[in-house]
Amino acid sequence: MFSSKNSYLAMWGPFNIKDKFLRYSSFVPRLYNFCKSLGFAPGRIMPSRAFCSDENQGYPIILITKHFGTFPFNHGRVGGIVATGRHGPHAEHGKDMVIIQASHVGYDPSTQTFGTYCRKRTEHHEHTSSCGKIAGCLKWYQDEYLFAQNNIALETNGKKHLVTIDNQILNQDRDEGLFLDLNKIILVDKDGDYKPVMSHSTSRSFLPSEHLKKSLEASWPKSGRVPIGVNLKPALFRYKRQIPPDSEGYNQLEENLLHAMPWIVTSKAPLLLAAQVNTQVEFDRTIRTLQKEHGYQGKNLVHIAGLHIDISPDETLTFPLTKFVPWAAYIQKSDGTQYMLEQEELMAALMEQSEDNPDQTDLEAAIHQMELHQEVKITT
Ligand SMILES: [Zn+2]
Repeated sequence: MFSSKNSYLAMWGPFNIKDKFLRYSSFVPRLYNFCKSLGFAPGRIMPSRAFCSDENQGYPIILITKHFGTFPFNHGRVGGIVATGRHGPHAEHGKDMVIIQASHVGYDPSTQTFGTYCRKRTEHHEHTSSCGKIAGCLKWYQDEYLFAQNNIALETNGKKHLVTIDNQILNQDRDEGLFLDLNKIILVDKDGDYKPVMSHSTSRSFLPSEHLKKSLEASWPKSGRVPIGVNLKPALFRYKRQIPPDSEGYNQLEENLLHAMPWIVTSKAPLLLAAQVNTQVEFDRTIRTLQKEHGYQGKNLVHIAGLHIDISPDETLTFPLTKFVPWAAYIQKSDGTQYMLEQEELMAALMEQSEDNPDQTDLEAAIHQMELHQEVKITT
């Protein structure tokens, strides 16, 4: 019932963020220079972005426009999902191709916490979830976890330690819900069964497994029952769910997060971890589609994945202070060479590049020049 797939760490390894933050104004020129170092032709590079639809993702788009000299193609769906069906049109729009893929999470410097963003355009400058789409996706899983935390109890009956579990949680025939790894929780009898010591109206009590006894030794009450609470660790459960479609159809975001949910709901920063996992899964999923896309064959392509950390602007600023944390990159050269850069290698490759970009566009001057340009009349 439980496999290594249950551990997202076993799939993709840790996504480190410590010492990996790049100011966006430093990241984009470094990326541009990195592309040039690979032989990409200035003026022929077509960037694309796969970001959430949240307006706080706009500042990165402005900087991509400035440094690459063109507005990026839109490869993004809400929640930071890559619209893999749009590779063909993107490939037709340039000689050398770049895709920047990122999930995002808010950060509040005053509380040093992840997951919220101050919406300056609301009446009272409300702080709301960022990414809101991911927060909505986690709700059902957090509710299921809360129910399990309150309805699994550690009990001391005389000298005996027991674990008392709600009948619904014990029901293995449910289509969806939180499912316990019973082998880690209940002592299996000599016939291989989970035999209750006592049955109650809505729950049953069992002898705890050696694993539970050892790991929670200090948590059992002297007498009576206490809810298992935070001691319900991610290794003890998993989720099953018939994922409902979202407003855009197939719910890729929830599918991406499903196996990591036990770690996400028990994390101190669930929206940070969820955004990291989504970046990791989306990168893994997208690479296969890039390799198969005929339009990209014979072209230079850099696909870079990372995390956006959105810091609300203070009174003196117009845009957020977004930071980029690189995760991995896939590079495909026009001669057919393909290779990956893992997090450390990618970070080093970006840091090797200069922050100066002599090719960058003066956006104000470009807009002014367009205003001065003779108007083109549309003939109907
Ligand atoms: Zn979002």
